[in-house]
Amino acid sequence: MGIKVVERHGNTFKEKLYLPAIFAGMKSTLKHFTKNLSDASNIPTICYPEEKPTDITPRYRGVHRLTHREEDDSIACVACFMCATACPANCIEIVATFRDDGVDEKMPAIFNIDLLECVFCGYCVEACPCDAIRMDSGIYSVIGKVREDFIYNKAKLLSIKGISKEEYSLAK
Ligand code: SF4
Ligand code: SF4
Repeated sequence: MGIKVVERHGNTFKEKLYLPAIFAGMKSTLKHFTKNLSDASNIPTICYPEEKPTDITPRYRGVHRLTHREEDDSIACVACFMCATACPANCIEIVATFRDDGVDEKMPAIFNIDLLECVFCGYCVEACPCDAIRMDSGIYSVIGKVREDFIYNKAKLLSIKGISKEEYSLAK
């Protein structure tokens, strides 16, 4: 097996001085600084939180929401536990019960998502056979004072609207 000798860089007097590289970096920084100072419209960063992003799309994975059925506005979730099973963070808590409107189906009595544990992977949305859980709320900022503020329950998840026009479950 042969040995490949790799030439080391940085051994010349100019390279060891570091000053040319430092000045080249300063020149580049100064160039961008003066350009942005004269025309701020092209700066890709925004002054968050004073400025809010305006380009949140329906595909953005924001805070979850639970959908309703279009026909009777009832909760679309049938408490099948598929989302909780798929969740790698184990942050979905579901307690199933029977529907109280005479329909022979289940629904969640309790549906909690702990957003402090959630990694926003979207696996729960992918796993749901009823399109009952979505992450198209567009909500990217969740604020609370105590841990309980970050546990979203069924009522809260049902009250959140999507940013797309489609408000109902696609399941028939
Ligand atoms: S987004 Fe991922 S981590 Fe969060 S609740 Fe869904 S499956 Fe769990
Ligand atoms: S949200 Fe979907 S996957 Fe989760 S329990 Fe309800 S129906 Fe099943």
